[in-house]
Amino acid sequence: MTQLMTSWVESANSAETPFPLNNLPYGVFSTNSLEARCGVAIGDMILDVTGLEEAGILTLTEEPVFDVPYWNDVMDLGPEAWEKLRARLFGILTSDSDEQSQVAPYLVPMADAMLHIPMVVSEYTDFYACRHHATNVGTMFRGAENALPPNWLHIPIGYNGRASTVVVSGTDIIRPNGQFKAPDAEVPSFGPSKRLDIELEMGAIVGTSTEMGQPVNAVQADAMIFGYVLLNDWSARDIQPWEYQPLGPFQAKAFATTISPWIVTKAALEPFRTPTPEREFELLPYLHEEGPSLYDIDLSVIIQPEGGAQEVISRTNYNEMYYSAAQQLAHHSSSGCAMNAGDLLGSGTISGAEKAQRGSLLELSWGGKEPLTLADGSTRSFIEDGDTMILTGHAQGEGYRIGFGACSGKITPAVKFP
Ligand code: MN
Repeated sequence: MTQLMTSWVESANSAETPFPLNNLPYGVFSTNSLEARCGVAIGDMILDVTGLEEAGILTLTEEPVFDVPYWNDVMDLGPEAWEKLRARLFGILTSDSDEQSQVAPYLVPMADAMLHIPMVVSEYTDFYACRHHATNVGTMFRGAENALPPNWLHIPIGYNGRASTVVVSGTDIIRPNGQFKAPDAEVPSFGPSKRLDIELEMGAIVGTSTEMGQPVNAVQADAMIFGYVLLNDWSARDIQPWEYQPLGPFQAKAFATTISPWIVTKAALEPFRTPTPEREFELLPYLHEEGPSLYDIDLSVIIQPEGGAQEVISRTNYNEMYYSAAQQLAHHSSSGCAMNAGDLLGSGTISGAEKAQRGSLLELSWGGKEPLTLADGSTRSFIEDGDTMILTGHAQGEGYRIGFGACSGKITPAVKFP
């Protein structure tokens, strides 16, 4: 197992920091004096790579790539350039670097920075690829006998979501309005969702584009992935069952998706690879993997009521997935669908086998039948206005961790429909 790599940025050398030299995740930030720009998290600081490029200290290609407030241009350069950048950042930040005095002026305290979405989200697709979650939800929606749809063990099921409403952590989420019908009601009604939920997911970011008509297999797909973020696929559980058949989720999911602000690269996660589980049916050849393609990443869901304390309500791990992001990407391209740099693939809700490992309130409260009791004595089946929902995650190395930063959003009241 890889050890903590040390940096001359002192705060990066603790066992607790999410951002040691081993990590080097990519984000976009601004301050009172700096316009939005590309940065790399190191300890409790951000390295201003846009500034370093302008100063001629960091050069990736002949043309500037950090002169825009998003990472898509770097993704477009391809895997060799990604490796070159990571190697250069190690050289700049490692404890025995001889560039410390030149580079130090380009460090900005994270506490003084505002974080923005790190990329232009070109497209967003969400999957349904964790067996515990699919079994739990299927049992609630269709009964235990039909819990897993007949295709589930053969296809990573997904739907095309909305890139337009993918937002960065810290953005308030307005409770959605929608149409729903209670089982005992004769006609549907319209209004604010009463069953607003989270979905704890990982987001994979596609870094290499493909042409229309040119599918990739799972091995090629793995090489195309640039990095990962935490992802909250906000869901309205009263809108969803009324609208989802036969074409899948629509307005129940379209109102918001939150991602964590730092893109953790595939390279940083390399020591934490774990295999997908045993297959009940052998997968078709285009979905075959050559090595382990999941990651051992501890994940938590935290709730913070208005004015209250934070409380962990679920803990699980990304290694609970049945399908990896590489398999999802291979399946996505299999028809000839073109994929783009900045394409975001939601893993699907991640739940473990135990109740305390479930990645949605729908599952934690079993559809509202078993409400959670919080430390302040209040109960929750679904999210109340004023609640902040926070996802966190990290891979645990020996004496260091690869963290993602929080993926959080506070719920504000629904708008009055005109
Ligand atoms: Mn989802």
